[in-house]
Amino acid sequence: MMNKNSSGEFDVIVVGGGIAGVSAAVSAARCRKSVLLIEKSVNLGGLATNGLISWFEPLCDGNGKQMVFGISEELIQLAIKYCFDTLPVEWGGKNTEKHRYASRFSPTVFSMALDEFVISNGVKLRFDTYATYPVMEGNHCCGVICESIGGQEYFKADVVIDATGDASISQRAGIPTVAGENFMTYMAHFFDKEKCSPEEHSNTLRKWEWVGSDLFGNGHPNGMNKIVCNSADDITDYMLYGKRRLLERLKTKDRNSFDIMTLPAMPQMRTIRHIVGASEFNAIDGMEVPDSIGNCGDFRPNGAGKHYQMPYGALYNPEFDNILACGRIISAPVGDGWEVARVIPVCALTGEAAGKAAAAAIDGKCQVAEVKVFG
Ligand SMILES: Cc1cc2nc3c(=O)[nH]c(=O)nc-3n(C[C@H](O)[C@H](O)[C@H](O)COP(=O)(O)OP(=O)(O)OC[C@H]3O[C@@H](n4cnc5c(N)ncnc54)[C@H](O)[C@@H]3O)c2cc1C
Repeated sequence: MMNKNSSGEFDVIVVGGGIAGVSAAVSAARCRKSVLLIEKSVNLGGLATNGLISWFEPLCDGNGKQMVFGISEELIQLAIKYCFDTLPVEWGGKNTEKHRYASRFSPTVFSMALDEFVISNGVKLRFDTYATYPVMEGNHCCGVICESIGGQEYFKADVVIDATGDASISQRAGIPTVAGENFMTYMAHFFDKEKCSPEEHSNTLRKWEWVGSDLFGNGHPNGMNKIVCNSADDITDYMLYGKRRLLERLKTKDRNSFDIMTLPAMPQMRTIRHIVGASEFNAIDGMEVPDSIGNCGDFRPNGAGKHYQMPYGALYNPEFDNILACGRIISAPVGDGWEVARVIPVCALTGEAAGKAAAAAIDGKCQVAEVKVFG
């Protein structure tokens, strides 16, 4: 283990620059905290950009009522600020066919807009830096060790927010976690020559297609069997299988008629691990929770009209003083809870709350479990 001379000290360290981490970092910075955001890739946005997701699920309840506000709404607006959108007229766009407050966006353009967003909010950003281990004194996290081109570094913080998408910081700190299960998905961005004809040109970007998706398990050797990914070997197998499937499909096409524009730069797994929190988010329609951080709807077609409150208790484990979790790793391990919690607008909601809670814990000189800003 390295010598623990610190390379820097921050009020808050956020590990992971996906949607949740960006929201957490900006939220804490807006509470006048010094914030370091550590991202192992060289683009912000996580699955939403590097993972080529490119569809911002709805902020509304499907019956015209907006459910999610705050940074989540800033992010949907940012996602479409510099490129095309499919926002419905009801929500300020031009699309008359869709009606929920949702939009398609360009993942590449969104990731550049996210850089601008975090920097303009005073966050210190570190790309190409892998946070390997939290440094623990009992159940208190003193900071995180990182690896980068510059070697190993140790950054200290008062509060650490795990926004890794796989809960690796929480797990390595000793917080109990639950592994998730995935079915095979491999989606790439496809460019079709026909769709580049002049009359289609203005629509070309919107007509990116998903290719190679075994969304429903078709063709996977295990059929509908779910895949748990807990090691680099698991992830390598998952990615190689997806690429092989895509290449097989391409061999049946006219090779002069298309190109694959972008391959996903991270595994498109919906759920890897969740923390075991003080409470669980179970997505029960209309249920009030005393420590609600805010509301969300249900993006699924049968979810219209459903209203859920998100408990703050899903963002921390009460045995640990100063570690918060946000995004798709919150305590929502099964069923409707994880389905609802993992989508982009809800990851932004839990990220924003984690940033506020971190700031409140620092201001109140208390543990994250004692923060009383919600509910
Ligand atoms: C196939 C698929 C389809 C989906 N479809 C939709 C959809 O249509 N609409 C929608 O709204 N949502 C969709 N989702 C869900 C949504 O995209 C993600 O759940 C959400 O974007 C996750 O955000 P996050 O910030 O929690 O995690 P992530 O996006 O996983 O971000 C985590 C970030 O942390 C970084 N990181 C991880 N570990 C470290 C470390 N140790 N050090 C430094 N950096 C680290 C990663 O590089 C990454 O940038 C889909 C997901 C999948 C897999």
